[in-house]
Amino acid sequence: MTAYRAAGTVDPSRLRLAVPNKGRLQEPTLALLHDAGLVFEDGTRALVARAENFPLDILFVRTEDVLEFVGDGVAELGITGTNLLVESGAELPVALELGYGRCRLEAAVPNDAPPRSLEDLAGLRLATSHPNSARRHFEGRHIPVEIVPISGAVEVAPRMGLADAIVDLVSSGSTLVMNGLRSVGQLYASQAILVRQPDPAPAQASLAADLATMLESVIAGRRRKYVMMNAPVAALPAIEAVLPSLESPSVIPLAHDGMVAVHAVVGADDVWGLLPRLRAAGASGILVLPVEKLLP
Ligand code: AMP
Repeated sequence: MTAYRAAGTVDPSRLRLAVPNKGRLQEPTLALLHDAGLVFEDGTRALVARAENFPLDILFVRTEDVLEFVGDGVAELGITGTNLLVESGAELPVALELGYGRCRLEAAVPNDAPPRSLEDLAGLRLATSHPNSARRHFEGRHIPVEIVPISGAVEVAPRMGLADAIVDLVSSGSTLVMNGLRSVGQLYASQAILVRQPDPAPAQASLAADLATMLESVIAGRRRKYVMMNAPVAALPAIEAVLPSLESPSVIPLAHDGMVAVHAVVGADDVWGLLPRLRAAGASGILVLPVEKLLP
């Protein structure tokens, strides 16, 4: 932090965004910034990258330090995981949920242990590298547990006799399976988030809002696909019945009599279910295109 300040690079007219310099969130974060149209060199060995087309300095820091950079006012914005915000207890506003880095904080026990629910953990020792989140959660539910804080390899703690159960981040669940563990419940869900300083200077507040809008448009675009098709006019009612009701399709006349082109934006997850039904309704020449950015 001091290195960035001491390097004399702090320009009051620019916005600063702290992002992970390694780990799981690094690559998808860089992809998001590039997809938003920001041009910068992501040589991750450098501490700072200057965006060429937006007054933004991108500070590459450890994922767990992002909140400190924002909390201390060194950066107006930061990208980190919900889990780190909950664990730190920092009261920084979440400007945006980014839709990647999804995982859950879960409690798990050895396969042959009796507990089936979080309540069944009463009186047991839980090893975790998320001690604050775990303590707060179990206190809130009036379940008395003993928290054993450890910093890594949490999944081997029961086997080593350090604890009866663990509380850890899970995404696919394969680490639990590989270690002979079974989930007994979720404490909370996490994903990558954009956090912001509560009271930035007016110049930075406006830049921060613009950057958040750019990122939001990319995230909204990723959830949609643009579908184009040709169809006989007579098939329109059947095609419109298949398309999700919230999206009103564009209908464009074609040179051939009685034919139209139908364009619609649909949910990315719905596409594969929709295509056979659109064809059955009379559509042909169906094209599915990515949506780069979407601002409702
Ligand atoms: P890192 O330790 O730098 O690789 O980053 C870990 C961050 O990635 C966590 O703080 C979470 O926000 C996120 N994450 C997503 N899935 C997982 C997972 N299965 N295990 C640990 N962290 C995860």
